[in-house]
Amino acid sequence: MAAELTESTKLVYDRVGAQERGEVSYENTLKALADVEVEYTVRRNMLDFPQHVSPCKAIRAASTEADKKLSEFDVEMSMRQDVYQRIVWLQEKAESASLKPEAKRYLERLIKLGKRNGLHLPEETQEKIKAIKKKLSVLCIDFNKNLNEDTTFLPFSREELGGLPEDFLNSLEKTEDGKLKVTLKYPHYFPLLKKCYVPETRRKVEEMFNSRCKEENCLILKELVDLRAQKASLLGFSTHADFVLEMNMAKSSRTVATFLDELAQKLKPLGEKERAVILDLKKKECEKRGLEFDNRINAWDMRYYMNQVEETKYSVDQNLLKEYFPMQVVTTGLLAIYQELLGLTFHLEEKAQVWHEDVQLYTVKDASSGETIGKFYLDLYPREGKYGHAACFGLQPGCLLPDSSRQISVAAMVANFTKPTPDAPSLLQHDEVETYFHEFGHVMHQLCSQAEFAMFSGTHVERDFVEAPSQMLENWVWEKEPLLRMSRHYKTGSPIPDELLEKLIKSRQANTGLFNLRQIVLAKVDQALHTQTKADPVEVFARLCEEVLGVPATPGTNMPATFGHLAGGYDAQYYGYLWSEVYSMDMFHTRFKQEGIMNCKVRTGFCAWLGWGGQGRGSQPCSVCVCPQVGMDYRNCILRPGGSVDASDMLRKFLGRDPKQDAFLASKGLKVESNSVPSA
Ligand SMILES: [Zn+2]
Repeated sequence: MAAELTESTKLVYDRVGAQERGEVSYENTLKALADVEVEYTVRRNMLDFPQHVSPCKAIRAASTEADKKLSEFDVEMSMRQDVYQRIVWLQEKAESASLKPEAKRYLERLIKLGKRNGLHLPEETQEKIKAIKKKLSVLCIDFNKNLNEDTTFLPFSREELGGLPEDFLNSLEKTEDGKLKVTLKYPHYFPLLKKCYVPETRRKVEEMFNSRCKEENCLILKELVDLRAQKASLLGFSTHADFVLEMNMAKSSRTVATFLDELAQKLKPLGEKERAVILDLKKKECEKRGLEFDNRINAWDMRYYMNQVEETKYSVDQNLLKEYFPMQVVTTGLLAIYQELLGLTFHLEEKAQVWHEDVQLYTVKDASSGETIGKFYLDLYPREGKYGHAACFGLQPGCLLPDSSRQISVAAMVANFTKPTPDAPSLLQHDEVETYFHEFGHVMHQLCSQAEFAMFSGTHVERDFVEAPSQMLENWVWEKEPLLRMSRHYKTGSPIPDELLEKLIKSRQANTGLFNLRQIVLAKVDQALHTQTKADPVEVFARLCEEVLGVPATPGTNMPATFGHLAGGYDAQYYGYLWSEVYSMDMFHTRFKQEGIMNCKVRTGFCAWLGWGGQGRGSQPCSVCVCPQVGMDYRNCILRPGGSVDASDMLRKFLGRDPKQDAFLASKGLKVESNSVPSA
């Protein structure tokens, strides 16, 4: 099928690329490309998606194989100089002036992407760029493959693993002489660094973790950074970061540097305070356990004492809390909240065709018109060979078909929550509930967007904005009312006790300073490597840890060689997590927090939910339903346009002013003095 798909798609490109200058028109160039893109995207997703979810190993392998072929084909088509030339000719024609706004944006985008591939440069340069692109993709695959396939483990005795729970210890494999094997995979690394009270054990594990693939990935990273700089220079950019950022809200590496520097400066006092608390905890712990106190915080102490802060200062008992979050209650509550918020209705399809019995399919309709706008799959539990993280996969873009009718959008949420057993339901940790809300936010972004072109559908927005809609919806799992709606004790059915709820909400502030300063270190390493090619990754990381975080890197380690994002499509864009949070917080506090995160102000007798039959009267909120007015605004201004409008324009429309950093800073526990905005 992949071969068939590339052949039929290539035919269209060939036809477009063979057009005489005089013949070029909107229909035979731009629309022909847009139409084939819709079909290609849908069929490509169907070939590509099963590698992540199919229960059958042979299908997963075939799907991966197809993905490789299609990726190669994507590079080839992106480098079609003949096609690019026809689009340029079209732009020069008078008819292009009368194109509708989104078609015009599509035309401009194709030209931009062509230039970013060097299609306007001499053939010799184009060949160089193509060669670099191919090398880069191989290097990126190898960098992450090395990390994924790392099988290092450390053997420890039970005493050396003191503090770790019994079920964790029992899950570990044993060496021949009876020691317990600790690997460097997340399910071992994080619990150990958080819970093990033997500092020497933590030190060994942290040192090994940040030395993974040191030799080989260090070389790859160097080559990656060099090749990226070469490509950027061939394309006329002074640095790779500037090349990447041109397409983002931030636009330039200078803006990103200012954003990160200012934030680091503001967070510094908070970081100092948190370090003092941690040092104090460490002193007490050393006295208690009869250990020597070295009066400093080491890299391997960070997570251990940050966890102690959560448990002592905020005293949230995560194990007790999760008894209130059985999967079914959370799902019902979450779906109800999203439906009310966005003016949608969800309908479970009873006998849907799915790839595994755990998977459910829902049809989504607009609540007021009854019109079907899309469908989504929920695939929530782990199984052999399934994608290991949580993510939203777009399967079908919501856009126009060749005959101008609308194609509905289809997406799948894939996650790995604990599966229920006959005697115990799946109970979610609070951070899993947050993940659930976050990923489902991406699903709603995919479904609610109503672009004309596939290229602008769903989450195809600026990369440093794409997380904002989902980050905004994370706020719902930190607010009392929605929390109560999505929780109930799995045995007694009682609500979360007030005291526990208050503690949970307060604990959002735990370790904010150190957590965010560490994010800044990572973002700055990423920026440094992609703005100064001569920079030594180990030296840069060590210096930033010292300067920004105030906790030194462990000598001999090479954290950047283990930083998968650098080779995973986040090059020069790691800052985006913090950047988009600025907008998510502004949207939440400016609109939802003011106008009601669930209830809305009903200003007239008209209830947006039930029409004129609703009970909303005057200033009274409707008691039967929730009128999703802010939510509808959000759906219309932020989700509906997809990538067909610049993020900054969407934000201005929704906020009624330029975006501000205030809410973001306040959420980090910082005082707000200025109205400084990342210039966007
Ligand atoms: Zn996300």
